Amino acid sequence: MQQQKKQITAITPTREDDYPQWYLQVIKSADMAENSDVRGCMVIKPWGYSIWENIHFVLDDMFKETGHKNAYFPLFIPKSFFEKEAEHVDGFAKECAVVTHSKLEQDGKGGLKPASPLTEELIVRPTSETIIGASFAKWVQSYRDLPVLINQWANVVRWEMRTRLFLRTAEFLWQEGHTAHETELEAIEETEKMLEVYGEFAEQFLAVPVIKGRKTASERFPGAVDTYCIEAMMQDKKALQAGTSHFLGQKFAKASNIVYQSREGSLEYAWTTSWGVSTRLIGALIMAHSDDNGLVLPPRIAPAHIAIIPIYKNDEDKEKIMEYIQELQSALKSLRYFDRKIRIEIDARDISGGERSWNWIKKGVPIRLEIGKKELENRTFFMGRRDLEPKDKKSISFDDFVGSIYDILDSIQENIFQKALKFRDENIISIDENSEFYRFFTPKNSEKPEIHGGFVKAHWCGDPACEEKIKEELKVTIRCIPLNNIKEEGVCICCGKKSLERVIFAKSY
Ligand SMILES: [Zn+2]
Repeated sequence: MQQQKKQITAITPTREDDYPQWYLQVIKSADMAENSDVRGCMVIKPWGYSIWENIHFVLDDMFKETGHKNAYFPLFIPKSFFEKEAEHVDGFAKECAVVTHSKLEQDGKGGLKPASPLTEELIVRPTSETIIGASFAKWVQSYRDLPVLINQWANVVRWEMRTRLFLRTAEFLWQEGHTAHETELEAIEETEKMLEVYGEFAEQFLAVPVIKGRKTASERFPGAVDTYCIEAMMQDKKALQAGTSHFLGQKFAKASNIVYQSREGSLEYAWTTSWGVSTRLIGALIMAHSDDNGLVLPPRIAPAHIAIIPIYKNDEDKEKIMEYIQELQSALKSLRYFDRKIRIEIDARDISGGERSWNWIKKGVPIRLEIGKKELENRTFFMGRRDLEPKDKKSISFDDFVGSIYDILDSIQENIFQKALKFRDENIISIDENSEFYRFFTPKNSEKPEIHGGFVKAHWCGDPACEEKIKEELKVTIRCIPLNNIKEEGVCICCGKKSLERVIFAKSY
């Protein structure tokens, strides 16, 4: 608390001082999640989980609007299923958790040991193409059965060595869409459509501006013909892949034997896609918007829209203020903001008003209302907005507040988006010189390598060797080849050979 006054920020260290630690402190101060006793796995606490519920709520509706239905498939994948697609196996083998035994028995030393080896080992799903493909093979007989448009909300396990809350955990929550189509064109259109959905969701709800593009061959989903992605910039100017949509061609259909009788009567393999976003989006949300006072939440995804802090000196005042708050609750009760109720947290804890106010600042709640005797008498609220400075508060009348609640929430949402957009656009530059490119991605202050750089638009000849060289030497990757890229002639930033378009280079999460 002493320190807090000195630095006038609620989070220590600040972004500037130590970005990775700042990130963890924001999560801790907002009480969103914590490391669990299980290696690499996190406990998502109510405030963090509620954000995931809202992501689920909005996206689920968007998936249904685009014709998809939810289903659920097993957590375990027989090893033989997994082995069917060679590239897929290669991509995930190192991260697989494998179940080898059932049952436990006494080990004779006071402990337990696994008892019965399984006849076929089971993989805990890292992704479900193969197990869902097996079902699709049964469901699809004729072209009349297509398309199959399925989504699953689930957990997956990828045995990561280095983990970080929300960004990289051994188990995480996600949704995975899986579809099968009659034609190649239809499957490509589906892949692109879902990328649009993700882009719209990221920008309209998470207030995170994204660049839509395609991955290079080396960055593709293991087994995919083409991977599309949305890439966002975090405040340390690194990129975060916020969602992917894969065109799988007929590769997985061949592996799972998804065959249909065509309109002409011949047997054909279906064309499939898969697409997903995960709890990683919460990491993106935190790193794109939060400041040195903690989490900043866009209203359309926030667990609560308003935090109310009653300030009173005696029981009589308290009673009157609580009645006034109830009146506000009733006035807002029937209102819906983006299909959700206006959610209110009332914080009447027996601690100072200032401390309670900081608590909600750190949790990122969009609107804070402080209500004391003066507000009660004047029928006003003392309002603070999370997108503005903590001290930037103003008085607003009861009627004005209720009457303009949508405008206030929209204005906060827009403000948060515009700030992130401005930051991103200020940190994207075009570079044509190899030496300048290397200088740009080399930290100027070796003690603080975390905050530097940005996105660079540079020419690339298309040769994976150039991509690999840059990755080796600078830890910089091609984040994407932007969709609707302007074709312009130039020379490859690495080898100097002819190039027809620019790609986005950046360090990434
Ligand atoms: Zn090159």
